[in-house]
Amino acid sequence: MARPVVGARVVVPLGTRVVTGIVMDDASAATIDDAAVKPIREVLDAEPFVPADVVGLALWTAEYYAAGPGDTITSVLPPKARGGRADAHKTIRVASITVAGLEAIAVARPFQGREGGPERPALQVTAKQREVLEALASAPDGISTPQFSARGIAADVIARLVRHGFVSVRQDRLDRDPFQTAVVQPAVVDPARRLTAEQAAAFARLSAMAEARRFQVALLHGVTGSGKTELYLRLSAAVRESGRSVLMLVPEIALTPVIASVFRHAFGERVAIQHSGLSDGERHDQWQRIRRGDVDVVVGTRSAVFAPLERVGLIVVDEEHDASYKQDESPRYQGRDVAIIRGQRANALVVLGSATPSMESYYNATIGRYERVVLEKRVLDRPLATVRAVDMREEYAERGPDVVLSRALEAALVARLERREQALVLLNRRGFATAVFCRQCAGTMDCPNCSVSLVVHGEGASRRARCHYCNYTMRVPAACPHCAGPYLEQAGFGTERVEAEVRRLCPGARVARLDRDAIRRKGALTEILSRFRAGDIDVLVGTQMIAKGHDFPRVTLVGVVSADVGLGMADFRASERTFQLLTQVVGRAGRGDEPGEAIVQTIYPDHYSIQLARHQDYCAFFDRELKFRQQMRYPPFQSLVNTIVRSRTFAGAMDDAADVARRVREGADAAGVSVLGPAPAPLGRLRGEYRAQLLTKGSNRTRMRGLLQSAIAARPDLDRRITVDVDPVSVL
Ligand code: ADP
Ligand code: ZN
Repeated sequence: MARPVVGARVVVPLGTRVVTGIVMDDASAATIDDAAVKPIREVLDAEPFVPADVVGLALWTAEYYAAGPGDTITSVLPPKARGGRADAHKTIRVASITVAGLEAIAVARPFQGREGGPERPALQVTAKQREVLEALASAPDGISTPQFSARGIAADVIARLVRHGFVSVRQDRLDRDPFQTAVVQPAVVDPARRLTAEQAAAFARLSAMAEARRFQVALLHGVTGSGKTELYLRLSAAVRESGRSVLMLVPEIALTPVIASVFRHAFGERVAIQHSGLSDGERHDQWQRIRRGDVDVVVGTRSAVFAPLERVGLIVVDEEHDASYKQDESPRYQGRDVAIIRGQRANALVVLGSATPSMESYYNATIGRYERVVLEKRVLDRPLATVRAVDMREEYAERGPDVVLSRALEAALVARLERREQALVLLNRRGFATAVFCRQCAGTMDCPNCSVSLVVHGEGASRRARCHYCNYTMRVPAACPHCAGPYLEQAGFGTERVEAEVRRLCPGARVARLDRDAIRRKGALTEILSRFRAGDIDVLVGTQMIAKGHDFPRVTLVGVVSADVGLGMADFRASERTFQLLTQVVGRAGRGDEPGEAIVQTIYPDHYSIQLARHQDYCAFFDRELKFRQQMRYPPFQSLVNTIVRSRTFAGAMDDAADVARRVREGADAAGVSVLGPAPAPLGRLRGEYRAQLLTKGSNRTRMRGLLQSAIAARPDLDRRITVDVDPVSVL
């Protein structure tokens, strides 16, 4: 048997089973006991199935994020296409022209001006048949029969041509086209469009960096509406022309449809799309297209960073601050950071784009590790939205505690409807009411499995109380489950309540809601977004989903119902997240010809996240937040590892975490690592398990990881109850 290459698939015995694996490394230097090593049964590929550099990237990821190489390589591989299913191997009929068909055209349209010579016998070709033949004459790969029927050409026209031998029809395998579901609107980029002076300067710098063909990272800090997409596109085209390929990462395809459609429009068949919303079959197809080299631009979410693309010259990470680049299951990698490693290994340019860069990235730009490229202005000199803050404490004092929409926001909404403009209303909390309590015994309705209160969804008879963590659901009872008293009340509110309030305020308005509940049904998300874009919705209420990357030119008002939702979180990134969310959502207003306005309701109008988001002053926010991070020794100054130990009992979780903490502390000082905890995690109970938390901080991740890994190795019984999160984005 030939020696397998790295990246090849092999069939190997594993325990009592036989499984397919991927060759990760050449083990010629391994020092394992020979008797424990079993021979490979079969080598399936002579060439790497996964390119060797992607295998290397997966190994790096596994090590850095303290995950198993098995977990990691699994997330790199294409999902198994479900064999035998009707949709797994869709085929399509494609017609192409034959030599006889070419002659038929020539005869049907004899050359003019040729005198003498033998006359050919005239062939009877109908107008429709000639249309088919002419279309095919200029389509070397043929034209699919559905395309013909879309042009109004009936199947029997083609069938007759086939019978005469003018046309042949073959069956082609059809790669499902995920853009059909992922794209909301036609491309908006006009190739003849002139870049603004700022865009042109940024393009000149970035394209020079790409041409250098060495590893560099550029932070493209461009305010909302400054035209970053246009730059990604032109840069991609330039890199592609230089014979290299492009990886374009976005936080969520369906939420950034402009990018998907713009790239599709510009690069046609040479684009592949990779994201988790696709079916397994679709993802498999796309992976194979990339692997075959049919593609030189990949647009995708987090996991596309492992796309089997060769000769990568440019990696773009759009909205690089977005938390969805972090995977919240093993391997817990940060897609943006893996992208940087991939760029380094490929000698490529990595562009991180955002209007609100993460603290880490901006810090790296200030110390010169990244090149900072700035777009300070919106395109066409459009102004940023003006932002007004409404102090809800005054509103509650004057109108009672049950106010959802302030008078200012109500008036602004009504004015928009009169002017037939559109509005977005953000509340980053789902449901109708966020708590139920008893006025008699003060008892609350909490999740039996998690340490959170149940959230009420729906109104009237269809009311349900649901846990947002484990999905436990129950009917809202008429009497208190604790004291049987009939005085149950709802408190707090979420997007469903806001939606109801907007409908009550504007009975004639077309109101829709966009949050995780509203998009359960497949296709609902794109449907809502395209209806809003088409102007069939006046007011769109939603969670952070409405804040991301959208370009809706007719939105002139953005309302933020409770700007402080995230500030109460026991998470060191709470201020950063709040600032980013507010700046991003405010940036959705005034992207067309009419200027935009934003109204931000808050009970902490003086909090710096809210103040500085109001002024859309990123740099002031960064300076302020950096001081806090420095004082508290949080990233970007020190790295964090969050370790969670779970157990059926509270004492069990705390004791086991204490044991791990003790072992880590033994070597901590020498390694410059500090250990915090154990303490009950902010989310103290989840899905029936108690959670104890251990935070380690240090400047050397390798040492921190090493300490943790040896502590955990001493407690193999904890293996399934412990989670190690390197560079966590959330420490709840
Ligand atoms: P960003 O991603 O920076 O928020 P977009 O890329 O969505 O901004 O661009 C904002 C809007 O400006 C889009 O509608 C885009 O088509 C338009 N646009 C971009 N560049 C130009 C330009 N040079 N001239 C005119 N319009 C532009
Ligand atoms: Zn629960």
